Amino acid sequence: MKNSDIAFKYIADRLVQFKSVELLDDVQLSDGLLDGSIAGAAVIACSDMGWLLRYVCSDPDANLHLFQNFGHRTDSGGFVETVLDKRLETIIVYGHSPCGFAKYQAKEAPGEDSDWLEVGRRGVLEEMLRMLEESRIGELAANEKLRVRVHGWFYNSESQHLEVFDPVRKSFVEQISRLDYEPRIKFVPDQGLVGER
Ligand SMILES: [Zn+2]
Repeated sequence: MKNSDIAFKYIADRLVQFKSVELLDDVQLSDGLLDGSIAGAAVIACSDMGWLLRYVCSDPDANLHLFQNFGHRTDSGGFVETVLDKRLETIIVYGHSPCGFAKYQAKEAPGEDSDWLEVGRRGVLEEMLRMLEESRIGELAANEKLRVRVHGWFYNSESQHLEVFDPVRKSFVEQISRLDYEPRIKFVPDQGLVGER
């Protein structure tokens, strides 16, 4: 097994111990926000994903709070505070390839990894784990009555598909989205380094 596979498996094994980590795809997010079964959601994405954030529902009536920063860090830009203040129950960490942050990380640990897809996917899991272990969101997520759920997404620019973390399979699974063919999907413009829609 490659070093990068071992590192991914290690972090995935730790992450799936958290019951709040579930599979949620783009269709479930959009349908849930529009039919009210998801009361509110927060998405933290990487700033260098550009001005199009594919697969994120941007219906103006949806209670969706979008953040972008370098490396989709949940510990800056008021992300945690917004989740707490607005009692958002659905949280998505959204990474991508090719990602400048993943390349920066790899430079910090030379020789360990040069597979940007693997580094990027693992970065999503690392951020989910950091949030659950170190922030107040983790405390809320541990309270099952509150139904806080945490999800990991990864946009693979090579396949041009969304991949969604499946805690049962402990891996990202590719989504062939119906939303690609639906008129109601819209794109959310980039808000800069840190922003809220
Ligand atoms: Zn990035």
